[in-house]
Amino acid sequence: MTVKNIFCVGRNYVLHAKELNNPVPESPLLFTKPTHALVVAQGQEITLPGGRGQIQFEVEYVIHIARRYEPGMSFEELVDKMALGIDFTLRDIQSQFKQKGYPWLLCKGFVNSAVITPWLPFAGLKETKEKDFSLEKNGREVQRGNIKDMIFDLPTITEYTARHLGLDQGDIIFTGTPAGSGPVSDGDKLVFKWDDGEVGCCSIKLETNLY
Ligand code: ZN
Repeated sequence: MTVKNIFCVGRNYVLHAKELNNPVPESPLLFTKPTHALVVAQGQEITLPGGRGQIQFEVEYVIHIARRYEPGMSFEELVDKMALGIDFTLRDIQSQFKQKGYPWLLCKGFVNSAVITPWLPFAGLKETKEKDFSLEKNGREVQRGNIKDMIFDLPTITEYTARHLGLDQGDIIFTGTPAGSGPVSDGDKLVFKWDDGEVGCCSIKLETNLY
């Protein structure tokens, strides 16, 4: 399945915005990643850049867009699949970029920075709010979230993205991370859980001389 555009929402949970000392935004904070960033977690080793400062995981709920957005369309018509994902971030570089007012591409868009689990069918908004997503690192839960705690809910995010940037079949959206983002090290094993059941896993290889 070909993914077209990778959109991401920043600071969409109050506790995560606060843990990074960021203000809570008044409208969705959007950025994109290149499609080269995408990789599906199927138990393999995923290589990330070493030597560029700390890399942090951000577990997120991810949606797949089924068709071209048209005003008035319901969220259930627009979205057909879900996954969990990690928006990997070079946090030290991001901190420097924030101070300088630079765009986030280099700290958010590197190869393998957009990890997703295999797709699952989207069950509807109500059903989705009844289930938590979580991330385990080396057997210990490090993040847990629920879409009902989002600052901007999923219909608001899709409508806002569509209106400003367009949304079409094959686009995906990382919808923001809850509290608990933290560092990854070489050899870490990450497990994605949806409603406390495993839906994907990978291990981390940090490589200094990548390209
Ligand atoms: Zn994120």
